Amino acid sequence: MSSSCSGNCGSCSSAGSCSEKKEEANLLKGVREAILVLSGKGGVGKSTVAASVAVELAKSGKKVGLLDVDFHGPSQPTLFGIQYLRLEEGQKGFLPVEVAGVKLISVGLVLDDPDHAVIWRGPAKNGALKQLLEETEWGELDYLVLDFPPGTGDEALSGCQLLPMPKRALVVTTPQEVALADCRKCVDFCAKLEVPIIGIIENMSGFVCPDCGSRHELFGSGGGALLAKKANAPLLAQIPMDPAFLRRCDDGELPAGLENSPAVRAELDKVVNAITAAK
Ligand code: ADP
Repeated sequence: MSSSCSGNCGSCSSAGSCSEKKEEANLLKGVREAILVLSGKGGVGKSTVAASVAVELAKSGKKVGLLDVDFHGPSQPTLFGIQYLRLEEGQKGFLPVEVAGVKLISVGLVLDDPDHAVIWRGPAKNGALKQLLEETEWGELDYLVLDFPPGTGDEALSGCQLLPMPKRALVVTTPQEVALADCRKCVDFCAKLEVPIIGIIENMSGFVCPDCGSRHELFGSGGGALLAKKANAPLLAQIPMDPAFLRRCDDGELPAGLENSPAVRAELDKVVNAITAAK
């Protein structure tokens, strides 16, 4: 992954002011706002929520991009069933894959083999992040949703610093204390980088038994509300566990999974409303 001019492209007027580079930087010009999807730890459903929010925003008529830079588990291609595609390049940069009305770019679509572990060090990851972000033909977007790796490490920090447009964040947690402890760091991270938090999303929030209809709090309850209080942000949604939704996601059919899970969709609608309300 590298196509940046080293300063010898022939179209530079002087060293350090490459016109190719300027054009690359311009590819982000049409992106109005970045929505960072953060979580303190893996497995809370951050990628699933990022994808679902992007799809539902697109359904509401917004122009949406989704950038998956979860280097150690780029799951967006799997959620949309396109893990065997590879990114193609257009005149100016990478061409996003259009899925369910969303322009998707994923680090998983540039790896030689989707099953290979990414063992790049920080600088290599930051370089790849910068390239995917700045050298993609995003076009006009109302929102670019970013699926970062869990935690508040290098990628989230570099990502924030590389995004020239206004940014807001969604913090995804599950209801139990061990997930919440890590999410408190996300809240602190956003405060330090002055990224406003739109709200907290509590995922896997209860399970409604398909047989008897009774609700079970598998991971406890109330955690999202506590975190929202700490973040001084609203608890936007409490998305239930839905085994049918999980199956569709595993089968690469997230958009169909959303269509068939009204309980999940109803909560996501609240998130979409919160994102678009400020516009
Ligand atoms: P993360 O990005 O936080 O590591 P993922 O989005 O990859 O987590 O989700 C982990 C697993 O949980 C996936 O198999 C996903 O399909 C499943 N999952 C996420 N949210 C839900 C939900 N609300 N109901 C059922 N399964 C879910």
